[in-house]
Formats: sequence, C-alpha cells, structure tokens
Amino acid sequence: MAHADPPLPVVETFHSLQGEGIHAGRSAFFIRLGGCSVGCSWCDTKHSWPAEVHPQRPLEQLRAEAEAAAAAGAAFAVITGGEPLEHRLDPLCTTLAAAGLPLHLETSGVGAWSGQFQWISLSPKPHRPPGGEALRRCHELKVVVHEPSDLAFAEAMAAAALERRGPAEPGPALLLQPGWDCPEGQRLAVAFVQAHPHWRLSLQSHKWLGVR
Ligand code: SF4
Repeated sequence: MAHADPPLPVVETFHSLQGEGIHAGRSAFFIRLGGCSVGCSWCDTKHSWPAEVHPQRPLEQLRAEAEAAAAAGAAFAVITGGEPLEHRLDPLCTTLAAAGLPLHLETSGVGAWSGQFQWISLSPKPHRPPGGEALRRCHELKVVVHEPSDLAFAEAMAAAALERRGPAEPGPALLLQPGWDCPEGQRLAVAFVQAHPHWRLSLQSHKWLGVR
C-alpha cells in the first residue's frame, strides 16, 4: 500500500517579492519551515526556531498552494526557515516539482544535505560554519555583516566555495548584506563592496518596503 510522505512543520506560506539576493524584486512563493537550532543572536525569525509549535502540513497541500501561486504569477518557490536542512527535503522537492515552479533554497548550510533545487542561497554563519556540500552547491553566498570580522569570514567562505569546485565550475555570486538596523554593518559592507567589485551589496528590500 502506498503511504504518504510525512508532513512538515510550516510557519507560514505567502506570495510576495523576493527581498534579498540576486533574485531580489522577483515574484516568489515562500514556504517557511519551522525548526532551527543555529541560534543567531540577531535572527529576525526566532518564532520559527521550535518546530513543534508549528502545524504539520501535508506536502500535497503545499503543492496545491504553490500551483495557485504559480497561476497568480510567482516565478519560483522559496524554501526558507528556520533552517530547512533540519528536515529531509527530498519528498517536499519531489512533490513541489509537480507545481512547475523552479525551487530555491535559503539555508545556513548546517545539517545533512537533501533536496533538489534550481537555486541555492547559502548564508553561512561564523559560529556554525556550513558543510562542504552547501559550499560546493550554492549559487549565491550571502554573508550578513555586523562587524569587521564578518568581512574576513565572507572572504574565507568565498575561498572555501571555490576550493570545492572544479576549475571550470563557476563560483557563487558573492553578496554582503548589512545586518538590519546596523549602521556599522552598512558602513562596512558598502566600503568593502566599493573596494572589491566582485562582491555586491544585498539589501533586505522587503523590510525597507514594509512587506513580507
Ligand atoms: S540560521 Fe536563520 S533562522 Fe536560524 S537562527 Fe540563524 S538567521 Fe535565524
């Protein structure tokens, strides 16, 4: 007898614009999974940390929502969190593929790798560095900047991402994102990008606009 894939804890789903990274400004359907043990002090989604307080949602329900979002104009679906890699993502990816949207992942790269994605946004954290698989696979590397040591960490992560690829493989797009409401992070990130043109600035445009 066929059995359904296990449900996943979901904090929220919504159709908005991607606010950050290379795909900023594009129509996107978000699935925010519950559960994160990375513990960033400045995290803006701390409500997502305990997985058990969020409803377990069947994957087919999420597929139906993704299909509706695609019909309403979403260009891709973003699996975010929390830390999505704290769940085994293969069944979710397989189910969502039927909705016809490219799948994007937003992750800190902590945890065992799973799932198949067309775009991987890796936001590594100095206190819990990412695994090699995340560094090898990511399409963009997005480092949050609060203090000078974050810039050295960003360069170390960019080098580590290149080391894990073949000589003909392109490296990830390199992005510095000032911490929200952090003037020092803004100053550092802007000055660094000015002097290092292979990096670019990423802003949390959805927060500036006051949208999700
Ligand atoms: S990894 Fe993301 S969700 Fe988890 S604590 Fe850090 S910023 Fe928050």
